[in-house]
Amino acid sequence: MAVAKILAASNHFARLELPLEAVDVAVVRSHYRRLALAVHPDKCQEPRAKEAFQAISEAFEKLSSTVGQAQCLREAGRPSKVAKVTKAKVPEEDERNAHWWDTKTWEEFEERLRHRERAEAALRLRYCSGLRARFTTRKMREHVRSAERSVEHLDRNAGLPESPLWPPESTQAARDVEEEVAKARQTEPWPGAANELLPDYNERAELNDPPVALQRLLELLTHLRAVHRYCLFCGCTYDSAQDMDEHCPGITEEEHDEATSAGLRGTESFPASETQEEDPLEAYMASVDAEAQKQQGKRKKRTR
Ligand SMILES: [Zn+2]
Repeated sequence: MAVAKILAASNHFARLELPLEAVDVAVVRSHYRRLALAVHPDKCQEPRAKEAFQAISEAFEKLSSTVGQAQCLREAGRPSKVAKVTKAKVPEEDERNAHWWDTKTWEEFEERLRHRERAEAALRLRYCSGLRARFTTRKMREHVRSAERSVEHLDRNAGLPESPLWPPESTQAARDVEEEVAKARQTEPWPGAANELLPDYNERAELNDPPVALQRLLELLTHLRAVHRYCLFCGCTYDSAQDMDEHCPGITEEEHDEATSAGLRGTESFPASETQEEDPLEAYMASVDAEAQKQQGKRKKRTR
C-alpha cells in the first residue's frame, strides 16, 4: 500500500506524506522513520519496496534542510503544464549504491539513522550557536572541502561510482569543461586566455551560506562514517561501528580536540593530561585559535 503511494508521488513532500509547505525538520524525520518502518526491504515483502525505500530516503535527505525544502517547494509550485516532476531515481540493477541508508538489515539502518541524528544535533550545536560566526563559516568550508576529497578517495578505493558528494572538480562535468578549455588553448592566440573559462572551484559561493554548508557537511560526514566507517577528524577507518563508537570521541572536530586536551577519548580515561575537567565552551573557544594555526598542516596530512 505505502509502496505504491510513495512511488506514485510527484514530489518529495508527497513521498513523505507531508503537505506541500515548509515544515519542521523533526516532523520530516518522524514521517521518514514511520514510512521507513513500513517499506524497508527488511520489513516489507512487496517487490518494489527497495525502490520506495530509496525514494523516501532521498526525499528525507533533501527535506532535512530548509534550503532543500525551499528548492522542492519552488519545483513543485511550477505550473503543471511544465510538469516539473522530480522523478524518484530508479536504481539500476547493476548500480552499486552507497548511501548511508543502504544496509542489509533494519537494525543496521536504525543504527545509522540514529547516528545521523546525533551527527546533525552535534553539528548544529557546534556551528549554529552563533559563536564567532565568520570563523565557523570559514572552518565549515574547509571541512566540506576536506570531506569531499576523502569521500572521493574512499569511494574510488571501494570501486563506487562517481557521486554528487565528490568535489565538483572531480566530476565528469568538470572534466568536460577542462577538455573544452584544453581544445580552446590550442587555437587561442594567447595561451592563458582560455583559462578564464575554467570555473573557480575554490570559490564555492554556496558554502558561504551556513545552512547550506552545514547540510553538505552533514551529508558528507554521514557518508564517511556510515558507508566507510571513516572519521575525518581521527583520520582513520574503523573496523566496525562498535569500534568507532568506542574510540572516536564524536562527530565534530571540536569533540576530538576537547577529548585530546582533556585526556579523554570517549568515556575511557587515557593517560591523563594535566588539565582538569574543563568547561566545554571554554575548551572550545581555546581550541578555536589553536585549530586555526594547525589547520593547514593537518589538512595536508589527512587527505590525498
Ligand atoms: Zn573521530
